[in-house]
Amino acid sequence: MCGIIGYIGSKDVVPVLIDGLRKLEYRGYDSAGIAVVAGGAVALRRSAGKLSNLERAIVADPIAGDYGVGHTRWATHGRPTEENAHPHRDCTGRIVVVHNGIIENYLDLKRELQQQGHRFVTETDTEIVAHLVEREMRGDGLEHAARRALMLMRGLFALVLISADDPGKIVAVRKGPPIVVGLGDGECFVASDIPAILSHTRDVVFLGDEEMAVVTRSGVTFTDFFGRPVSATTQRVLWDPIMAEKAGYKHFMLKEIFEQPAAARDTILGRISQDTGRVFLEEMTITDAQLAAIERVTILACGTSWHAGLVGKFLIEQLARVPVEVDLASEYRYRDPIIGPGDVLLAISQSGETADTLAALREMKRKGHPTLAICNVVGSSIATAADGGIYLHAGPEIGVASTKAFTSQCGVLALLRSEEDTSE
Ligand code: GLU
Repeated sequence: MCGIIGYIGSKDVVPVLIDGLRKLEYRGYDSAGIAVVAGGAVALRRSAGKLSNLERAIVADPIAGDYGVGHTRWATHGRPTEENAHPHRDCTGRIVVVHNGIIENYLDLKRELQQQGHRFVTETDTEIVAHLVEREMRGDGLEHAARRALMLMRGLFALVLISADDPGKIVAVRKGPPIVVGLGDGECFVASDIPAILSHTRDVVFLGDEEMAVVTRSGVTFTDFFGRPVSATTQRVLWDPIMAEKAGYKHFMLKEIFEQPAAARDTILGRISQDTGRVFLEEMTITDAQLAAIERVTILACGTSWHAGLVGKFLIEQLARVPVEVDLASEYRYRDPIIGPGDVLLAISQSGETADTLAALREMKRKGHPTLAICNVVGSSIATAADGGIYLHAGPEIGVASTKAFTSQCGVLALLRSEEDTSE
């Protein structure tokens, strides 16, 4: 997952953007860039590799502006080069976009736009967004052009846009990956994750799925993709910034390895009766009748969560005698799997935002199959999309290589097996 930051307010924008990107470094990235608007023009700096390379590029050739956006990229389409690093621009260079996710139909859109005379300079899927918005600009504002463009794009994406021709405005869009809007005093932020803005504000709104935020210095309006106003709830983040920091360890991963006993305790305790040993999984909104009707469990996950799924297969098959298949969500979503009425789908994802797992789960839901999820991040897309599920309660996992979340995932799968045990 890449990092996104946007800022509009009276602070010096470049340090705010760089600082925000630094707080998101833990997600992993291959290149970075920022764009700011100053004096009616866009200024942009990008760099392959570490954030320090970008900082050096800015020192060598300084930029300043009134507001802007920044991005750390984790390439999906196009090599990790400076040219492919975000932000990307339209033909005029006045519309700027940063993007998390994948535009599935970008090749069709690119061909169409090229035929209409648009010139592409990168290998990314993201660049089509800038050109589409350019084509859809009709003098009624960036948000309207963005809405028209959105209707043509397939995939899962978070986008943040600015245009020098519609100054003083940042437009953020969410279809899948998260976007958080931070509200300050005469200033606003957008980001892909809370740590990026926590040192500036604790008042945040999590943008809902298929919603748009139009952010200005004096406030934010929230709408759906059709421009209809939606209600937004401001939440006060109680996270201590230290919780998202390394707490004295050299690396997040090291810290999280040592947190495993506590994480496993937090996952399991409170769900087991100390007297009877019976397991209670209140969030599993699945009835005994539904449980008894299960003929096959398909576990869908990616990466480390997929390995937890393999452990789950052993645990569940051994005791419940129900066949379990463990599938990579990225493969599953693109084939035409054979699914019967007795099938239940169990998605596993630490972040709850793994794009392939989310897409596969949504597809199964659409076909009418019961879905369950095991996630760590409360309120995440997969957790909310599934019919029922279990949270890990393992605390924030910052290390990209999963440790304590894996242990807790195995803990939850063992509880599932025990749940079967007691219901027999
Ligand atoms: N698909 C886009 C790219 O390859 C965005 C990748 C990301 O989420 O960082 O540039």
